[in-house]
Order: sequence, then C-alpha cells, then structure tokens
Amino acid sequence: MPVGTNAETISTLVETARRDYRELVDAGLSFDLTRGKPSPEQLDLAAGLQELPGAGRHTAANGTDCRNYGGLQGLPEMRALFADFLQVPVEQLLAAGNSSLELMHDCLVHALLSVLPGAESRWADQERIAFLCPVPGYDRHFALCARFGIEMIPVPMTADGPDMSEVERLVGEDPAIKGIWCVPKYSNPDGTCYSDETVRRLAEMSTAAPDFRIFWDNAYAVHHLTDERVEIADLLGACAEAGNPDRAFVFGSTSKITWAGAGVAFFGSSPANLDWLLANNSKRSIGPDKVNQLRHALFLKDADGVRAHMDRHRALLQPKFEAVLGIFDEELGGTGLAEWTSPKGGYFITLRVPDGCAKEVVRLAGEAGIALTPAGATHPHGVDPDDAVIRIAPSFPGLQELAQAIRGLTTCVRLAGYEKRLAG
Ligand code: PMP
Repeated sequence: MPVGTNAETISTLVETARRDYRELVDAGLSFDLTRGKPSPEQLDLAAGLQELPGAGRHTAANGTDCRNYGGLQGLPEMRALFADFLQVPVEQLLAAGNSSLELMHDCLVHALLSVLPGAESRWADQERIAFLCPVPGYDRHFALCARFGIEMIPVPMTADGPDMSEVERLVGEDPAIKGIWCVPKYSNPDGTCYSDETVRRLAEMSTAAPDFRIFWDNAYAVHHLTDERVEIADLLGACAEAGNPDRAFVFGSTSKITWAGAGVAFFGSSPANLDWLLANNSKRSIGPDKVNQLRHALFLKDADGVRAHMDRHRALLQPKFEAVLGIFDEELGGTGLAEWTSPKGGYFITLRVPDGCAKEVVRLAGEAGIALTPAGATHPHGVDPDDAVIRIAPSFPGLQELAQAIRGLTTCVRLAGYEKRLAG
C-alpha cells in the first residue's frame, strides 16, 4: 500500500512537505537545470583543439588547403571518422558547420522552397504540411515546426520508440504528413533506444506522401553512460533495402563530443537527397569551415579516439546521473508520486509526476531558485496534455550543486503531489 493513503497521513505528509519547502526557499538557492549543456569540465576535455591544427598546418589529406573556399561536402577525413558512428556511407555523408539543428532547419526550408526528390511539388505550395512528433520529444524540433507553420501530430513513445501502429496508420492515410522527428538513440528526453523492429517498420511502412522524410536526429550516437554501448539498426540501409532509398535524413554533430558551440555537424542521406542538399547549399555558402574540421580530425584521430574521448565524458557524467537517480530513489521511492527513466546514455532523465502537477512542480522549484526546463516543453506547442512530464538535465552543474538542486526538486514534487492528493 503506498504511503499516505488515509487522510490523516496525507495531511501530515503535506505539512512536512510545506515545512521542507519553506526551508528550501529560505536557503536562497540559484541553480540552472534548464538545458542539456556540457559542463566546463567536459569542454576542457577538448582543450587540445585550441592548439590545432597548429602553426603552418592547413592541408587536408587530399591536398585541400583548408583555409580556402570550397569543399561543400566537408573534409573526407572528418566524414570518414563519423561515417560508421552515424551509419552512413562516407560518400553519402556531409560535414558542415557547428550545428546539426541548423542543418535540420535548412532541410525544412529547402523542402518548402525547392522540390524534394520524389515530391510532386514544393511543400510551400501544398495546403497543409504535418509532421509526426513522438512525445515526449525535443522542444527545438517542435519549435522548427511551429516556425514554419508545420502542423504537429503527437504520437506516444513506447520503450521501443514511437508507437509504430499509430505511425503506420497516420502516414498511410494522410498525404499531408511529410515527416517524423526521431531521436533514435538515448532520445531526448526519455533516453529511449529504438528497437530493430521499429527501425525496420519505419523503413518499410507505406506512406501516402511520396516525399515523406524521417528526420533521424542521432544527436547521442556515441554518448554512452554505461558499459553497454547500445547499437541501433541502420535506418538508411534499411530504407534502401525496402525500396524507399530517399526516406531518411540522418543528422548528428560533435556538439556534445568536443565543443557545443564550435563543433562539426553532419547530414547523411541517399545520393539523390545529398545532391539536392548540396545544390541548395551551394547557393548559401562557398564551403564550410574546413579548418575546424581538420582540427577535429586531428584531435579525435580515429574511431578509437572518439570512443576514448566519450569514455572521458562518461567519467564526468555518470556520477551526476547516478546522483540524481539515487536521490529520486531515496526521496521519492515508494511514495507513488513519481516515476523516472534510468537512461543508458544521452543527456536527460525524464521525471513523471502525477497528472496535473508538472507545471506546479516547475513553478515551485523556480520560486526556490531551481530553474528547470518549462513543463510542457517536451510536447508540441509547449502543451503536455497530462501536465506530468519534467525533463531533467544533469550535465552542467557541479555534483554538489546538482545534488542540492535535485533534493530541492524532490521537495517540490512532494509538496505538489501531496497537496493534490489532499485536495482529492
Ligand atoms: N538534437 C537533439 C536531440 C539535441 O538534444 C540537441 C542538443 N540539445 C541538438 C540536436 C542540437 O544539436 P547541435 O548542437 O548539433 O545543433
């Protein structure tokens, strides 16, 4: 029987929570857990970048002078380094500027303004464009849709990825559905890894739109938090095999490998889609920052270099994730007030509080000086219909600060949750 099932116990629990909350506010904390940013210590791991490529060194393996214009597809050595991690053949991978979000933005804009391979017309010329949005999901994906007037259709996440029966039903009947957002490994925010079956069904499903695209945002491809380095199935290969070669747009970046603001981003797809993007990109740029790409290739060296570097991130991140999970267990375990994910990688923990309480928890935390990602951010238009999901980003604060903030947060969960129970 959960704690606090009779009225008397609940009023005691509420009183204790109120007292704890007053103490929390009096402590005058000031913590920011809003975004999944690497900590300064993580950024320091790539300090060697600052010395590279080094005086007088500016030539790529193929003789390209990286200081000059050109090379729209990016340096071959940088593409070769990430081709396997992103499951894209090197000749179908593009290395670009520092932000994969920028590439996603550009793909949407180009699809709106220029006809995609396999499309009958530009998206901008169609009356209605919609994307499937697995929820909970990444707020910046949803912000892109909102920005361009793309209707968002939520689809629930399961332990294996989006609910595929729902996805298949929707894309099969509605030609306005042009895409789906997917974070296939260690997803933002719930840490889900798509099963092989999900990947196969995404590749094989029949879509009413001939120009349907999967925005496969593999932002956390190498961001493991345990000894188990989770592998997912190869979507691009599965799409080609299923006779839908142009269906996948693969994205990734080194934002959470080297420097979040000064890394290298990637786009991978079919030859036809790559040509389409290159043709569009050739109008907006004469070539990417190849000096930064050279610097990254020299710093990370090879696949083992990337893995060793990610192990160093893990050494900094894993204790933070464990601290959060330990405090949740200690403070909220057995209360029936919350459930949370234990991700094997990525940057987030999802905390689920009783329906109708997430906004209140975030408000209480904010008033106690603990800034959290706004409740609802994990859903289209910032509206979580259950008002239950809170995204926790443990990476940035120091371990002690983080522990203090999370303890404070659990007080807010107890207060909001028990108040709601008391109100009946
Ligand atoms: N995709 C996902 C799922 C993310 O969580 C993030 C960072 N929070 C990004 C993309 C941003 O990537 P980038 O820095 O390459 O623009």
